[in-house]
Amino acid sequence: MRTIRLGRTGIEASAIAFGCLPLQRQPMEDVTRLLRKAYDNGINYYDTARMYSDSEEKIGVALSDVRNEIFIATKSHHFTAQGVTEDLETSLRLLKTDHVDVLQVHNPPFCPKPGGEDGVYDAMLRAKQEGKILHIGITNHREHIAREAIESGLYEVLQFPYAYLSSDSELQLQKDCVAAGMGFVAMKPFGGGVICDGGAVFHFFSQHPDALPILGMQHMHELEEMLGYLKKAPDPVKAEEVIAADRAELKGNFCRNCGYCLPCPMGIRVDMVMRSYYNLRRMPVSQMMTEDWKQMMEDTKLCIECGQCASRCPYELNPPTRMPELYDDYVEHWNKFHAVR
Ligand code: SF4
Ligand code: SF4
Repeated sequence: MRTIRLGRTGIEASAIAFGCLPLQRQPMEDVTRLLRKAYDNGINYYDTARMYSDSEEKIGVALSDVRNEIFIATKSHHFTAQGVTEDLETSLRLLKTDHVDVLQVHNPPFCPKPGGEDGVYDAMLRAKQEGKILHIGITNHREHIAREAIESGLYEVLQFPYAYLSSDSELQLQKDCVAAGMGFVAMKPFGGGVICDGGAVFHFFSQHPDALPILGMQHMHELEEMLGYLKKAPDPVKAEEVIAADRAELKGNFCRNCGYCLPCPMGIRVDMVMRSYYNLRRMPVSQMMTEDWKQMMEDTKLCIECGQCASRCPYELNPPTRMPELYDDYVEHWNKFHAVR
């Protein structure tokens, strides 16, 4: 399999990396089969997080006997020295290992630095000196924090949302990251779920060989589809057509399904509402024509325009201004769907 060098870490990762977040949803036995198949077919990079409940434990059970042949990246979401240190100890125990290859600070609202009051970076550095982690990384959804991490020279790996729908400045960020000698790991290569064509995704990353896509997988058929593209590349003409059409419709300014806009004081499912436009066009529409969905859309009328969701959205989307048109769009689909039944 083609490999991707992660900057100055020297890590040679398989061309696709296994995103372990969805493993939480499947029983241990199925996960073990899935991870072993991935390993047997050459996938050597596994990305997890302390936050992903039992994902680390499942990796430990499935892959500890081949630990030295794979790379494990995990994350800590506690932004204190003590939190990072405790998270790392828990991760090592569950992963059944004495070190992780990359420890990433998980989407911090600032860029941790040496000597910072939070102590996060110093704690990671101590763990590196003790050999418990080999490389220090950071993940983020906010472009300005990702840029600060690149410019700081403190991090060896950046994980950032990256897909063929990314904006021009996000695409440039990836180039700047690689130029700075950092490894670039692509979070949400399916645009958080709005991209439906695996072949187009695979084609895009074959054209951007410095970016390591993290593919979240939980079912055997998902893994088999991706392994299939490694054996037989997707038709480039078809893939380019899909990419061009998706870009024309969605590029840059779309909801990534990250959920940072929550919670809403009025209980509105802002993330689900913001995705409704794409879901109505990309999912079987019947899945959304339920009383629960209808109620969720009705709840948008409770909005008091407090602005909390907008202030938390890393993509600067403004949900309260968009919800009325999304509601109308949903009602139009609802009326059509129920009229023809
Ligand atoms: S602006 Fe509206 S939707 Fe957003 S958090 Fe406030 S009440 Fe909820
Ligand atoms: S509206 Fe913004 S914060 Fe909320 S899910 Fe979408 S992209 Fe994320």
